[in-house]
Amino acid sequence: MTAQDQVLQKTTLGVYTHVPFCASTCDFCAFYQKQPNREEIKRYLQGIQTESDLFLKNIPVDTIFWGGGTPGLLMPKDLDALGQSILKNITNRPTEWTIEMAPSTVKPEKLKVLKDLGVTRISMGVQSFNAKTLEGLGRLHSPKQVYKAWDYIQEAGFQNTNLDLIFAIPGQSITEWLTDLNEAIRLSPAHISTYCLTFEEDTKLYVKLSQGKIKRDIDQEANLYERTWDVLENNGYRQYEISNFAKPSQECQHNVHTWQMHEWIGIGPSASSQYHNKRFTNPASIEEWLKGIETGNQAYIDTETLTENTLALDSLIFGLRMNTGVNLPVLQQRFPHFNWQQLDHIIQTLTESEHCNLTQESILKLTSTGRLMADSIAKYLMEEIE
Ligand code: SF4
Repeated sequence: MTAQDQVLQKTTLGVYTHVPFCASTCDFCAFYQKQPNREEIKRYLQGIQTESDLFLKNIPVDTIFWGGGTPGLLMPKDLDALGQSILKNITNRPTEWTIEMAPSTVKPEKLKVLKDLGVTRISMGVQSFNAKTLEGLGRLHSPKQVYKAWDYIQEAGFQNTNLDLIFAIPGQSITEWLTDLNEAIRLSPAHISTYCLTFEEDTKLYVKLSQGKIKRDIDQEANLYERTWDVLENNGYRQYEISNFAKPSQECQHNVHTWQMHEWIGIGPSASSQYHNKRFTNPASIEEWLKGIETGNQAYIDTETLTENTLALDSLIFGLRMNTGVNLPVLQQRFPHFNWQQLDHIIQTLTESEHCNLTQESILKLTSTGRLMADSIAKYLMEEIE
């Protein structure tokens, strides 16, 4: 049994904190974020304090993940206040604590506060080392700031690091992408995430796409995916999920636990939770979120009571995105009331079309071709499974 299978048999708890502030909006961004003012940050931190007191009191937590937005935009004293709100409630030190930081926000005094709090992992949104590509994405930072930030992170002694990169950006050549990738490898972080650019509605890039100002090249995207997987694998970064690669034992535990459908509590506006057999999401508005927190009457959206069917289906969908695949006997043990017979024809279709392999140990895995079609396969599973 692999380490991931063992984790599947034990429920872990993660805490996700959404920090909804950014200095400006990137052209591809569909996350809830806004430009902050001092008063709003103050109210946000008070809201987090109250929400942590309500939901995190006396509970043991395995992992913490601060995402956004740009959590690193907060001043050192605000980062400390955010961390203390959580630490004063939970009963233990998490084994992994990640913060997402934009290169322009990485400063030694912030890293010191983070280290003192117990943050273990810095995930930096580099996106590209190429000034022209960064400009095309509407990112504010420069390649020079990336290198400066990287030096600060090294000097502060953070070993567990991730660099986020984006590929298939309109105007970006294959050579430019491979140069970006090799530059990330040269810096030697513990983990690299590579995301194919997506065009979400309500983003500036989507508008440009709709107006025909930029074009998507699906064949090129598939080509870049495969080249990326080869280059990273050949340089010691094992792929463990479609977009995620790590040196040995450096996978992001928080994300792995989420994809394995364990529990997490999301705090902050727009954060989602999966906790005590329920899924629910905070409103994507600081005002609405604060109103709920302050009155003790949270205005959750998309509240759903979880069934074995939902959890089994989501474990299949997200499990298939991971290279270890889905260990069917382990899942059957975990969700005994799910109708497992209905999977027979699905597995037959997916293996006959060479999108999946089923091993002798009944582990279902995507093939390389299947990995390129993961979204369509997820859609197929959702349509076929009752
Ligand atoms: S920094 Fe991240 S959250 Fe903020 S606008 Fe850019 S992509 Fe969106």
